This record gives sequence, structure tokens and C-alpha cells, in this order.
Amino acid sequence: MSTELDKIKPFKANLIQNAVLTWFDSYGRKTLPWQENKTPYRVWLSEIMLQQTQVATVIPFYLRFLANFPKIEQLAAASDDQVLHLWTGLGYYSRARNLHKTAKIIAQKQAFPSNLQDLQELPGIGRSTAGAILAIAFNQQAAILDGNVKRVLTRLHALTTWPGEKKTHDLLWLLAESYTPAQRVADYTQAMMDIGATICIRGTPKCPACPLKKVCLANKLDIAKTLPKKKPSKKIPIRSVLMLVATKQNKHVYLEKRPSTGIWGSLWSLPELPSNANQADINSACMQHFNCLPKAIQMGNSFRHTFSHFHLDITTAFISLARVPRKIMDGQQQIWYNLDQPENIGLPAPIKKLLKRIKA
Ligand code: SF4
Repeated sequence: MSTELDKIKPFKANLIQNAVLTWFDSYGRKTLPWQENKTPYRVWLSEIMLQQTQVATVIPFYLRFLANFPKIEQLAAASDDQVLHLWTGLGYYSRARNLHKTAKIIAQKQAFPSNLQDLQELPGIGRSTAGAILAIAFNQQAAILDGNVKRVLTRLHALTTWPGEKKTHDLLWLLAESYTPAQRVADYTQAMMDIGATICIRGTPKCPACPLKKVCLANKLDIAKTLPKKKPSKKIPIRSVLMLVATKQNKHVYLEKRPSTGIWGSLWSLPELPSNANQADINSACMQHFNCLPKAIQMGNSFRHTFSHFHLDITTAFISLARVPRKIMDGQQQIWYNLDQPENIGLPAPIKKLLKRIKA
């Protein structure tokens, strides 16, 4: 059965390319840190950090990361705690874990892959990120379709279906490929990302400033504000946990390292119990972790942290221990985190905030 999408035809590629590249020459961003001394490693690092994160947020993280790991071999040789520590605050930690895994693979091969298939086989590199690396670092004619470009193309063609739906998504890739030029592909790619990030923004786009305004169908139809269509909404589930805050001499907080898979994988967090845990459950957790019973338990506030697919409601219970064990378990996966001289470890954002509040 044919649909509206079957009737969509690309514009002439050179029309789009010329408009975009001419705009880039005057207004495109040309001095971002990853645009200087371009290497595949630096481009790849920036592309991973820029997934779901804005340029202004990424820049300090990117510079800090590069200062610590100027070469991919140094990243490959780092511990996961070092990597996650430098990522703390940037969110979506699977990006950091995959970055680390990929660095080890590439360092071992001693060559950065330069084709779509090999790049996409690496952890954390999807089709759009692979395309961006090829276009920007290797000057190869490869298309990208990140969130910004998706929004521009959806509006350019006035696509009124949700871009995540398969048929629309496939069509967007066809359009992205048809417009990607053979020459100046790095500039074109950067320009499309810039137009999406600064002009064809979410909500109300700045169409009068857009190089595509004369051809853009959403602009002509005056429906740009309504596009892209939102994902059909599903209610986000809520999970609840109780977290134990055990302190030592008011300046150390007990943390344990989470398993490498699942939420906050390999990050350091507080011991967790089900939200309906009672006094007996807390006693038993204290025996297990500290080999002693709590002297006092004081319930703290609850707060919510929202992931992309669920809300996590966290309630804290502050524990005074009858005696503080000098050694904890094997010492590898548990620490007394020093609030005054924090260790270089990866912390989930809400735990980092909580630790700051405890210190204050
Ligand atoms: S004209 Fe407006 S809606 Fe169309 S691509 Fe440009 S900014 Fe987006």
C-alpha cells in the first residue's frame, strides 16, 4: 500500500549542497576544539561526547579528556575508574564504557578503521557516528543522521510521521545520502549539524536565518513548529529504592562499585535496598556490609532521577554504625569515599549531588 512517504522526492542535491556550503563559509563553526588538529581519535571522541549532549557542555569535558589521554593508546591503557571519573557529569555512561572498549580494540590493531562496516562493528559506533568520522576525519562521502540533521531533513520535506518509525527513518537516510556531497564533505557535515543546532532548533526554528528557507516545505506550509512529530507517548514507569548512607568521622561515605552491566555500570554508588525495606532489612544489610548493627537510622529526603526509560525515586537512610570496621570486604569494590579529598572515580550524577549535599 503506498503512503504519503512514497511520494516524497529529494530536492536537487547541488541546490541543497550549495545553499548549505555557502552558509557554512560565512556562519559555520570552524574553531571548535575537535576541528583543530583533526585526527580520527579526536573526531571520534567528540562525536561520542556530542551524542545527546550540546556543544557548550561537551567542550570542557572534551578538553579534560584529551589532556588526560592525548592519544588513543593512553585511553586504552587507563583504568575504567579513570575514564568514568572524567566522564562524571556528562551522563549516558554506556558511551564512556564503549569508548574505553573501542580504544582497547583500536590500540591493539594499531590502526583506526576507515570504512563504514569496520567502524560500525566497534562498541558504541552506530551508522551516523561512523558516517561523521568518515566524513570529518577521512573526508569520505558518508552521510550522517544525528538528531539535528534528522530535524532539518524532516522539516525540509515536511514529513509528518514520527522520524523514529522505520519507514520514515529509512527515508531520512535516503535523503541524507542523496544530499551528501563528494567534495567538501567535512564542511557540509559540520554545516548540517550547525544548522540543526543553531537555526533549525527544537520548538520554533529561526527560518528567516536559514539557508534552506526558500525550498523548505515546512517553512512554506508554516508547519515547522509542529515538526518533527513526537514519539507516540508511553507512560514512563517508576522504580523506587532505598539507599544507605553510612559515614565515618563525618568525612567519609561508604560507596561500592556497581556491576559492569545494568544502570550506572562500573560507577560507584550507595548500597541499595528495596524501597519497602524495614528495620530488619537495614540491620541485615549493615551486618553484611560492615559486620555490625546500626546505632541509629535517620530517614532522609526522597528525590527523583529520571532516565530515558524510567523514573528512579531514591530515598536515603542515614546510618550511624555502632563501630566502624577498619577494613571493608576485599577493598576492591568498596571504599570509604573521602568528601574532602575525593577519589578519581566515576559517580552517577544524583550520587555526586548527594555527596556534595552531605559535605555541605
Ligand atoms: S527553513 Fe526553517 S524549518 Fe526549514 S530547515 Fe530551515 S530552519 Fe528548519
